[in-house]
Amino acid sequence: MTTTPWHNWGHTESAQPTERIRPTSTDEVAAIVRSARDRGLRVKAAGTGHSFTGIAVATGVQVDMSALTGVVAVDGTRVTLGGGSVLHDLPPLLDPLGLALQNMGDIDVQTMTGATSTGTHGTGAQFGGLATRVVGATIVTGTGEILAVNETDNAELLPAVALGLGALGVLTNVTVDCVPSFNLSCVEAPEPLETVLNEWEQRIADADHFEFYWFPHTESALTITNTRLTADAATSPLSPMKRWFDESLMANTFFARTTALQRRFPGMTPHINRISTRLTGDRSFSDRSYRVFATERRVRFREMEYAIPQDQVPAVLREIKALIERKGWTVSFPVEVRAAARDDLWMSTATGRATGYIAVHRYFREDPTEYFGAVETIMKAHEGRPHWGKMNTRTAADLAPAYPKFGDFLTVRDRLDPDRVFTNDYLDRVLGK
Ligand SMILES: Cc1cc2nc3c(=O)[nH]c(=O)nc-3n(C[C@H](O)[C@H](O)[C@H](O)COP(=O)(O)OP(=O)(O)OC[C@H]3O[C@@H](n4cnc5c(N)ncnc54)[C@H](O)[C@@H]3O)c2cc1C
Repeated sequence: MTTTPWHNWGHTESAQPTERIRPTSTDEVAAIVRSARDRGLRVKAAGTGHSFTGIAVATGVQVDMSALTGVVAVDGTRVTLGGGSVLHDLPPLLDPLGLALQNMGDIDVQTMTGATSTGTHGTGAQFGGLATRVVGATIVTGTGEILAVNETDNAELLPAVALGLGALGVLTNVTVDCVPSFNLSCVEAPEPLETVLNEWEQRIADADHFEFYWFPHTESALTITNTRLTADAATSPLSPMKRWFDESLMANTFFARTTALQRRFPGMTPHINRISTRLTGDRSFSDRSYRVFATERRVRFREMEYAIPQDQVPAVLREIKALIERKGWTVSFPVEVRAAARDDLWMSTATGRATGYIAVHRYFREDPTEYFGAVETIMKAHEGRPHWGKMNTRTAADLAPAYPKFGDFLTVRDRLDPDRVFTNDYLDRVLGK
């Protein structure tokens, strides 16, 4: 059987699966896994392909999860979702229940399970990544067994299964502990970079959700400070015209045009970046949480993101700034800086430590190797852990010491996927064979 080729959003990875199958039940998923295993084929559940790494590459059977979506059950704040549910489809389902996701990242076009499997996170020093809210799942293992994993059934597997890199099985549903619906007020402002770096720890402690972007070749940061409000608090949303102007025209169209211009005339980058910091990000508004957290990204890029100890963020950002100046590179895309609470998921980039995240980007037609490689060297020197879904060159041997429970995760992998039905080249590299 021939399938249409697959590639990811960032155009960094592609694949030609032998088969693509769209199951409609957990039993069908189990049958697919057993059949593939008998035929020596590998299996990979498909999210929406928003990982920049090869984590989602399917060479054998690609399992299209799009028939397993929506709310399966509700128990108080705990909502069980089909394993193919996409984040932007959740607000119309959760809001009528008076519920919302506790925190979100920059976009909402990923699947919930793709996001949790790679450790996707937003920002907020008191808040963990999406996987920290996973309280249960149904998983089809590499032998085709169907396991419930939650606080009472197979509870010892939960810290591995909640953030499993797609290496342990296919999650046909996932139970997420939501929070009561809430509004967010958002203040975006350009500020001097040095002020923001000097006040980093205070800013993240004072705000519910603080992050900033630094445009290389400038001394300015665009800060974003979100404050949680109750669901009935008055809001002043962006008008559709203002949202279109800020997010579609400025953040996407303007950015696309200037990125193209900078590719032709790299010398213009510092001027354009200075203009960008002035033209974007000086506004305040409030709205339902999910309309504030997530924005649209239409300019295609590639990304590497590292988790480092939270208090090392200012030092590391200054090192990256010095690196870009020393090398004389022109970098058009901003560097994004966020925070998250420590958690206890075995493969979480925030496991055991309060975490700062620093992400570097390059336009997708530019070769990121030299820039990302040099930044990665800095990150390694600061005990950096790479986002599992963003570009990195790490191997199991050098990642193992960074994760206290790495060995325990591999033991669970041996138990749930003894024949490595769910592996691919990326997992072979970061987890071992
Ligand atoms: C524009 C853009 C913005 C982003 N913003 C952020 C951000 O703000 N914060 C952040 O942390 N990350 C961010 N990311 C990274 C992104 O959130 C992750 O890479 C995420 O995994 C993408 O989800 P997906 O549905 O596309 O999963 P995919 O990339 O398709 O798959 C990821 C992994 O999940 C596995 N998987 C998917 N479904 C299942 C299932 N049902 N059972 C078992 N395994 C499964 C896949 O097999 C694969 O191993 C961003 C990426 C892009 C392109």
